Amino acid sequence: MKRVGYIYDDIYLKHDTGEGHPESPNRLVAINEYVDLIKEKLIIIKPRRATAKDVALVHDQYYPQEIMDLCSAGGTYLDPDTRCSIFSYEAALYAVGAGLEAVDRIKRGEVDRVFAAVRPPGHHAEYSKAMGFCIFNNIAIAARYAQKQGFEKVFIIDFDAHHGNGTQKAFYEDDTVFYFSTHEYPFYPGTGSKEEKGTGKGYGYTYNVPLPAGTGDDVYEKVYSEELPPLIDNFDPDIIMVSAGYDLHMDDPLTYLEVSTEGIGKIVENILKTKDVPFLFMLEGGYNLIALGESVKLTIEKMLEI
Ligand SMILES: [Zn+2]
Repeated sequence: MKRVGYIYDDIYLKHDTGEGHPESPNRLVAINEYVDLIKEKLIIIKPRRATAKDVALVHDQYYPQEIMDLCSAGGTYLDPDTRCSIFSYEAALYAVGAGLEAVDRIKRGEVDRVFAAVRPPGHHAEYSKAMGFCIFNNIAIAARYAQKQGFEKVFIIDFDAHHGNGTQKAFYEDDTVFYFSTHEYPFYPGTGSKEEKGTGKGYGYTYNVPLPAGTGDDVYEKVYSEELPPLIDNFDPDIIMVSAGYDLHMDDPLTYLEVSTEGIGKIVENILKTKDVPFLFMLEGGYNLIALGESVKLTIEKMLEI
């Protein structure tokens, strides 16, 4: 059995998005109800508080201060979907810090794989812009941090139903971080066409699989068992990071994909089979609480077994 770390902290519940917002603290409450059932098999890890300098690995150096000021003034809408409240800056720093702590634990050989149950999510956040429920780009920062710790080549897989525009943009001209995404298309945020492949020396290191509404288990199985493995073989990463968004589930209220919980399990299985390297999964979306809890538990079970 693999040694799997689970990162969570109650600070994530204090990121208040307001009454009725789908990206609510209840998402993590639901996940923990399911993860508690397998908790004795996991190595429980607390995240650390990232610094503004850590955030600046990917973002504008003045951006953290801007977020801090807006939050401490009582909060506001950072974009039409993305609300921050008084504790959001702290929660966002700890969401980033989960990725940093995971990389350190992996580097020290304490764990083989980590699942970080964080919020706010990150993959839509751009250089100096919060977007789509995301404030800081947790996984992009983790990737840059991992490179500093000696994991030279990072492969990011994003199976959230939405395209990770922020992550793609962060590494679009980079040949040391590969970005692979499956997502509903055309759909929010509008990016993620097949033609977006990177630019300059990064050309060929971005790979998008846009999928129409209604796409289900069969197509996902094919993409993850046939299309993904050769990309990973060729790139030969030192670590694989996964933007684990569960809004591809058929019961998700925000999207129109038709993937079952078992289908998500197969995706995770195919990802874990690609290469014997450390894996870091970071939570992105997923808004049906039962589907989310069940799917995260199944993800972690696969991480333990495969
Ligand atoms: Zn999403």
